[in-house]
Amino acid sequence: MIAIIGGGASGALTAAQIGLQATVPCRVVLFDPSDHLGQGLAYGTRNFAHLLNVPAGKISAFPDQPNHFLEWLNRPANVATLLRDGPVAAGDFVSRAIYGCYIASVVEEAFSHPACVASLDVRASRVVDFIPTATGGTIVTSDGDTEDISHAVLALGNLPPRDPLPGRHPFFRSQRYVPLVWKAGAMEAEPDDDVLIVGTGLTSVDVILALEASGHRGKYIVTSRGGRWPQPHAPSPSHHDYLAAGPLPHSINALARIVRNEIASAGPENWRGVIDALRPHTQALWKNLPLPEKRKFLRHLRPFWESHRHRMPPTAWRMLEKLRAEERLELIPGRLVDFIEDENGVVVHLKPKKSQELRNLKVQRVFNCIGPESNFRQHFNEPLLINLLARGVLHPDPLLLGLESTENFEPIGAKGRISPQISLIGPPLRGMLWETTAIPEIRVQATKVAAYALRNVQPGWEI
Ligand SMILES: Cc1cc2nc3c(=O)[nH]c(=O)nc-3n(C[C@H](O)[C@H](O)[C@H](O)COP(=O)(O)OP(=O)(O)OC[C@H]3O[C@@H](n4cnc5c(N)ncnc54)[C@H](O)[C@@H]3O)c2cc1C
Repeated sequence: MIAIIGGGASGALTAAQIGLQATVPCRVVLFDPSDHLGQGLAYGTRNFAHLLNVPAGKISAFPDQPNHFLEWLNRPANVATLLRDGPVAAGDFVSRAIYGCYIASVVEEAFSHPACVASLDVRASRVVDFIPTATGGTIVTSDGDTEDISHAVLALGNLPPRDPLPGRHPFFRSQRYVPLVWKAGAMEAEPDDDVLIVGTGLTSVDVILALEASGHRGKYIVTSRGGRWPQPHAPSPSHHDYLAAGPLPHSINALARIVRNEIASAGPENWRGVIDALRPHTQALWKNLPLPEKRKFLRHLRPFWESHRHRMPPTAWRMLEKLRAEERLELIPGRLVDFIEDENGVVVHLKPKKSQELRNLKVQRVFNCIGPESNFRQHFNEPLLINLLARGVLHPDPLLLGLESTENFEPIGAKGRISPQISLIGPPLRGMLWETTAIPEIRVQATKVAAYALRNVQPGWEI
């Protein structure tokens, strides 16, 4: 039996691939407490204003069928039930909730296909431990059930974000503080509340979209150290594959020089095509960099990369422009210093960038959108990970971006021990691959992980 722990996009696409690739009968059990297959954090939103940040023509579940999502969307039954504005074109941005339905349907279709010899059992339970053995291991769930398995796929997604100030500040226990915006009902506020959003990535934009959709009238103050929003998507001519001829650069300076030259030759307004042409090479570029160069990238170039690579749909950008014009949105690059709560709200002490003066801002609600924690040495509350880290089966990578792993995505433990009966997938592979959290990367990993999990499945192995 193959166990998949986690039923977000990574776990669900791995299950679908096992259903498609299995050539002898085998059983797959997928554990996820939420029992909404394929949704996870990203696609579990019920807010239809939360759009994919990639157009419909670029986010198929299958690397070898680029139009699969588009064709699925435009099936008459889906146009009738899911699409308010009729059929969708390749360049359209559709709701993430619809993408969650798509992933669930991909899994359903893989296992219901007459040629499929695998079976899938979805269990609405949390796995709290996995004890590896010579032939696989034993899964332990929070209900105390145990299950012996031959292979485990850890598809647990991201760690939750840390609080935006170090230490255990009393404000982080306040009702006015929202530590995890993806929990059901978390993106809410009283209509006239002024709110502080900490973080300027795509999640901060989602919070604003959700509040606007609910008729919010208050102000949004948004802050992060660098104060960079994600750039908007816009039509841009595709750029030639300038890294194809190789060799790949070994230093960040050399890479930055190449990219700058390409942008200059394409015309500054066509930078998107130049950045997108890096995508097929991102993982190889990352692997090619020595550790000090990776550290240099994280210190100096990461904010630039994040804002240009992870872009927002144009409709979201237009909404931010409108809010700015109405003076309901203020972006303050800077550093949070303190939170002082009283009965009317919380005064946020913030030191704006390049200023000696503190600003004291009164708001009624604070949303933490600083992004997921990647350091597995930090305290977090996930018994399965705590147990596997304590047992030395999992180990943080040297950059503290995720977990150490082999090229086959087997975890490398504390003493360099490889666990071939476990596969990692998705966000925890960031240290090894850098680019690993979006669907175009996850769908490739799911194909590979499924083949790996099936490698020992022999005829007669399991009925
Ligand atoms: C808000 C958001 C928007 C995004 N938008 C896009 C986009 O538009 N385009 C794109 O390409 N990418 C997008 N991404 C990136 C990417 O698609 C997601 O990160 C991806 O869905 C990751 O899926 P996952 O399955 O690895 O993790 P998750 O979606 O986090 O799923 C992990 C699952 O594991 C389960 N789980 C955790 N612990 C246990 C346990 N102990 N036992 C059992 N189950 C457990 C959880 O319940 C959860 O369902 C987005 C990401 C986020 C967070």
